[in-house]
Amino acid sequence: MSHDDAIEFTCNLCGKTNRCTAGELSREASSCANCGSNVRTRGLLRALSLELFGTSVVLPDFPGMKSLRGLGTSDTAQYAALLAEKFDYKNTFFANLHRLLKPNGALVFTVPYSLEDRTREHFSDLHDFTIACLGGSSILLNRTPQGLLQVYENLVFHLGSGPSLEMRLFAERDLITLLIDTGFSDVHVHNEDYAPFGIVQSGQWSLPLSARRGCYSLGRESAREIMEELVDAQWRRRNETALRQRLQAEIERLAEEVDSGKRLQAGLEQRLEAEAESGKQVRADLEQRAQALTSELDRLKRTMWNRVGRKLRLV
Ligand SMILES: [Zn+2]
Repeated sequence: MSHDDAIEFTCNLCGKTNRCTAGELSREASSCANCGSNVRTRGLLRALSLELFGTSVVLPDFPGMKSLRGLGTSDTAQYAALLAEKFDYKNTFFANLHRLLKPNGALVFTVPYSLEDRTREHFSDLHDFTIACLGGSSILLNRTPQGLLQVYENLVFHLGSGPSLEMRLFAERDLITLLIDTGFSDVHVHNEDYAPFGIVQSGQWSLPLSARRGCYSLGRESAREIMEELVDAQWRRRNETALRQRLQAEIERLAEEVDSGKRLQAGLEQRLEAEAESGKQVRADLEQRAQALTSELDRLKRTMWNRVGRKLRLV
């Protein structure tokens, strides 16, 4: 896909359609005009959809499954509130993911990581430290256990600044090993693009990850919730179909009435035309007879005056 290619995608966080160029899609920059989601958050939510349902579903279309417990570690408000609408979800900000998960839980998350050989600890000797402001930017001051004073600049913060200073940059392979060592299985790096949701990866690092504790399966209670929603949707669809059929019949009946009205109007117009025509004929006849009578009267007048003239011996 080239930089200038136009893309239309459905934001899988809010469900709204967006248009942009491929070049405008980037991991962290907002690309949904409605909710501000980016490639990372859309990729993460798609990974969740794949883990739960095995297919790509937009979050507003997730079935409500309050029997399903969801634990966020540091999810943004952009989708944490939406997840809370669908699941028994809490944004915990806790770290011990494996312990928190149910025996058949699934974990999806994003974390900054590199493709380097090993994880880079930014502050390996952190002991007694503070973050201070110097010349408008943050610095970290640390005294090592040996009493050595260290100053770190160019700090990287996530979620804005302050609460989450990047302590290390994981290497992908270390992260996967860490997950497996903790007891997770089926660790999956979601590196594939999914254009319908505007997920176009610009690099192969810091991608959404998923992992499972045990074998995830849909519990009886979750299956019941999905079925109830499905049955309800089918019932509404059937009602809407019946209503549509009734409206269609009503429209056809009205169209028939309009047609017969038109036929009546055409008949009346035809009769009016015929009446007008015969009226014209009658008038012409009357005019002709009047003319004949006038000539007859003239002739009689002339005859009468001739007779009178003869009697008076004037002619
Ligand atoms: Zn959106």
